[in-house]
Amino acid sequence: MFVPLSRTGNIRVYCRIRPFLPGQNKKQTTLEYVGENGELVVSNPIKQGKDAHRLFKFNKVFGPEATQEEVFLDTQPLIRSVLDGYNVCIFAYGQTGSGKTYTMSGPCISSREDWGVNYRALNDLFQISQSRKNCIIYDVGVQMVEIYNEQVRDLLSSDGPQKRYPLFSCFGLFSFSDISLPLGFTPFLLGCYDGGITFYYFDHSIEDFYVSFDLHTLGIWSTTQPNGLAVPEASMHSVKSTADVLELMNIGLMNRAVGATALNERSSRSHSVLTVHVHGTDVKSGATLRGNLHLIDLAGSERVDRSEATGDRLKEAQHINKSLSALGDVIFALAQRSPHVPYRNSKLTQVLQSSLGGQAKTLMFVQLNPDADSYSETISTLKFAERVS
Ligand code: ADP
Ligand code: MG
Repeated sequence: MFVPLSRTGNIRVYCRIRPFLPGQNKKQTTLEYVGENGELVVSNPIKQGKDAHRLFKFNKVFGPEATQEEVFLDTQPLIRSVLDGYNVCIFAYGQTGSGKTYTMSGPCISSREDWGVNYRALNDLFQISQSRKNCIIYDVGVQMVEIYNEQVRDLLSSDGPQKRYPLFSCFGLFSFSDISLPLGFTPFLLGCYDGGITFYYFDHSIEDFYVSFDLHTLGIWSTTQPNGLAVPEASMHSVKSTADVLELMNIGLMNRAVGATALNERSSRSHSVLTVHVHGTDVKSGATLRGNLHLIDLAGSERVDRSEATGDRLKEAQHINKSLSALGDVIFALAQRSPHVPYRNSKLTQVLQSSLGGQAKTLMFVQLNPDADSYSETISTLKFAERVS
């Protein structure tokens, strides 16, 4: 069956297939691809006939032999855009083990060749800003947060990795009597954003959680986002060189890993968002520009068997599911040029709001496992890609 994918607007979708790993004995694959054409054929391993094959189209397909450098080459123009004042989002989407972290960070950052998109992007950013220094002076700041179970955690906080933040601060008036609140919990903090308001509850018995209400109809409040940052409370670190960035990212990855051991591979069940804020000042006129770059290693997209998952695992799965589908809905709405873009349905899309839509540019790496056993997850990943392309 032929599945045409449109190439709409500012969204580009690349597919990357990771190689078979050493020690992986069964080397049966379901994937055939034509890289430059961006065509990928997936064959059902247990079905025969022409219905067993599906063709998907991307902007490009990178095969198992593609190097980190080759993969970055197509991303490079976007980095220049950030310095020109655009907002850019780069994601890696796919099941756990499909190479998301490999693409975004790389397997080992001590070797330059292995550097993933994150390091290469920052390295380029400094090189380009250096080459423009006679015309524009750039300040670069970095934030790194993790979104786990719809909560945002600062990975670079000096107060330790466990600190959690409400997304936005409230600077408005509103009336409690218009809204019915869940009973038995104390609203700990309020936040509001583009047409809605969030109550941050502190529940001593289980865990903190957020509840959001749509306040469009009430119209009795106003909001301000200090500095235009989506997560103003997360620590911002000024960086002057690639070495500064490497140091910070190491801290971020370590903080992420601390959670991971305690919570059983949590890193595959949380989204990590590295945000680079660029502020440029024109030397002659004093005019300024701002650009943001979001680099996102998403939580694993694998579906969890509802009959098997219980308790925390089920809750995590539901949060991941919710946020990945919210992301899909936002990108789909943008691609369709829909007048309503549902940013408010997850923390992930709220954090990324300024960099999704409008003049912003989005690039998604759709990561695939090559082995036949992954067939059904591969199809599910490709269906997501098909919807947002
Ligand atoms: P994910 O972040 O999606 O869970 P990883 O990036 O951790 O997946 O990749 C899983 C394993 O596959 C790791 O051991 C990683 O080093 C390896 N791997 C992924 N992509 C590649 C690649 N393109 N080339 C070589 N090894 C890869
Ligand atoms: Mg990973």
